Amino acid sequence: MKASYDIWLIPLSLSASAFAMYVTFGFVENLYRTASQHRAILFNVYSIAIGTGLWAIHFVNLLIFYGNQAFTVFSLAIFASWLVALSIGYTICATSSKKVMTFNCLIFSGIVIGLGSYLMFYLSLSGLNETNNLWNLSTNISFYPISLLLALSTAFGAGLLSVVTLSWIKHYIGDNKLLIKVIFSVITGIAILAIHATFNTTVDVQSQIVESQILLADKTLSEVLITLGLICLFLLAFVVALYYEKFNTSTLKHLLNTQKSTDSANSGFKDPLTQLPNRRAFKRELETAIKRSERASSTIALAYIDLDHFKPINDSHGHHVGDAVLMLVAQRLNAAVRVCDTVARIGGDEFVALIEEIKSDEDIIPIVERIVNSIKEPFLVSGQQIDISCSVGIAVYPRDGDMERLMIRADAAMYKAKENGKNQFKFFDSEIESASDKMLEMHRDLQSAIENNEFSLEFQPKVNCKNQSLEGAEALIRWNHPTKGVILPKKFIPAAERFGLINQINDWVVEEGCRAIRRAKDDGVDLKLSINLARQQFRNPKLVDKILQLRKRYKIPAANLMFEIKETTAIKNENQFKHLLLQFKAAEIKVALDDFGSQQFSLSYLQHLNIDEVKLDKVFIGQINENKASRALVDAVIRLAHALDLNVVAEGVETETQREALADLGCNQMQGYLISKPISERKLLNLFKRLNVIDQFWVSDHQSEAA
Ligand code: C2E
Ligand code: CA
Ligand code: CA
Repeated sequence: MKASYDIWLIPLSLSASAFAMYVTFGFVENLYRTASQHRAILFNVYSIAIGTGLWAIHFVNLLIFYGNQAFTVFSLAIFASWLVALSIGYTICATSSKKVMTFNCLIFSGIVIGLGSYLMFYLSLSGLNETNNLWNLSTNISFYPISLLLALSTAFGAGLLSVVTLSWIKHYIGDNKLLIKVIFSVITGIAILAIHATFNTTVDVQSQIVESQILLADKTLSEVLITLGLICLFLLAFVVALYYEKFNTSTLKHLLNTQKSTDSANSGFKDPLTQLPNRRAFKRELETAIKRSERASSTIALAYIDLDHFKPINDSHGHHVGDAVLMLVAQRLNAAVRVCDTVARIGGDEFVALIEEIKSDEDIIPIVERIVNSIKEPFLVSGQQIDISCSVGIAVYPRDGDMERLMIRADAAMYKAKENGKNQFKFFDSEIESASDKMLEMHRDLQSAIENNEFSLEFQPKVNCKNQSLEGAEALIRWNHPTKGVILPKKFIPAAERFGLINQINDWVVEEGCRAIRRAKDDGVDLKLSINLARQQFRNPKLVDKILQLRKRYKIPAANLMFEIKETTAIKNENQFKHLLLQFKAAEIKVALDDFGSQQFSLSYLQHLNIDEVKLDKVFIGQINENKASRALVDAVIRLAHALDLNVVAEGVETETQREALADLGCNQMQGYLISKPISERKLLNLFKRLNVIDQFWVSDHQSEAA
């Protein structure tokens, strides 16, 4: 008897298959990311769900072609076909959730899925057999060998495609993940239908409809089976979801949310320049790698890669060249590691490589050697040769500690590699350990300092050099550590910058500074306040908007607020600095160049900058009376600054002779211990109020208070 077609079942089959594939995507991703003790349970539940789902879909497909036949619902053959479906489910889960799909694995899955599907089909057809005897089938089904070969190849191909897709999508971080999944789900639906159609051409079933105890006729049975099959599929998917929910992460939510979050945050997981995973994605990857290595009792290494001499490239060759070099670096790093390793970009010129499945340090060495050597090779960008190198620090899991420690320790080893002369790699060791432990402690302390708001501001008065009237102040941050007491910025600002916490801290400084100006105003004091900006704040495109918002919120006139940027920072980030200056100018925000003259001092540099104030570094001031050259330089800076209409402030004025010299040279304002150390807000306001009366700021009068 030849097959007939039940057309209306086709859309049902397609949507059921597509849905099943879509759910499977989520399952495989979960399995890949989960490594808890519940993974084994999840693995079984997912495999059974996928197997049973496939089995149900298979019946829907069978009904398309044999819907007008009668089925024996509970037969040994049908039970056997379910077992085969389960083995397919297990194969899919086991192979696709592996980190790397090997060739053998792929072929194995293709064979299991291809042969399995056919076996399932063959066994289920026995449902059409009234004898209910599996071994009798051959008497009722005739085979067409060529069709069989074709059918098997189709099933094998479709199996390969689905396993490759499942395996690939789980760590895909590009755009349109949702769309890709939907497209592949639909393709899978069509493939399953096609497999059944080709299978059908391989057999000719001679069946008779005979009554038996659970024998239903015609449409009624079709409908019952379809409903049963689908309910089964959906129920299983949801049971799995509930199961997973019990283990804290809701699969249901996950299935719905992963889509949303991975798709909308894909950009949040990928570095837009190099297309590598970013810090966030890498953290996730590291987490799962650690869990995987625990399962397999294997070792993993984290290589922290920092480019040497990269920063000057942006300034001397321009940003487009810098960007091109970073893209090439990404390519070379990817080529230097093995397929099972992951490379990510976690900062401007900082990369990391996750080296998995290693047995000893000896396995790591050739890989990091390849990394170091590949970066040492010259880069050719727009016809220019660029030479850089990299320093690599390596920490090994579990030897060098948990996930948090691993990053910090690899970073510490990288710093050691830099110290040792760059262009090399260094394993984390006990020598680095003590330094790194301090860093770890600092990291934790800083995080809790931010959470508990352990910071405060002190204010150092700025006075007029000539008449010594109080004209403003500089805000300086203090960390009131719960056990270590007051910590000065020199001790924690560099660490906060390294840990990427500086933005949070400085945002607080800017807002607290604005609040202080407001409180002073409410108290009748017109406080002109200077606030220090950190290097990282340059990179924040919303900085100007934020400042304007704060000014609006606290009703602060433009004249009351100024931002200080260090000369070294400005020189190192010249283009960004100039860009920021333009934005500041447009928003009428005043800028001072801090610590001027502390580094490679360049007078001509001043001419090209759109700034309002120059702060002479205290090193300069300290020597003003000691050597003539210093005095001549200060003289030159003040003249040039005045010619450019800039305010000049001297920092670190400690003696009366220094003050006199500065006043003689025409310096506008000064700060320093001679006048006052940084003091509390209350003391500053008291000072202003007292001096408002006499409008004169007399040193000896308050020095005791300030100290
Ligand atoms: P800076 O901006 O150059 O601040 C001046 C530093 O010189 C202050 O140190 C101040 O206490 C100190 N100082 C003032 N007068 C004298 C003097 O007569 N003699 C000597 N020897 N030193 C004097 P402090 O408060 O320890 O701050 C150090 C640095 O930390 C600051 O240098 C600034 O770069 C940074 N800093 C302070 N507060 C902040 C902040 O809120 N954000 C950022 N990003 N950096 C800050
Ligand atoms: Ca400053
Ligand atoms: Ca300074």
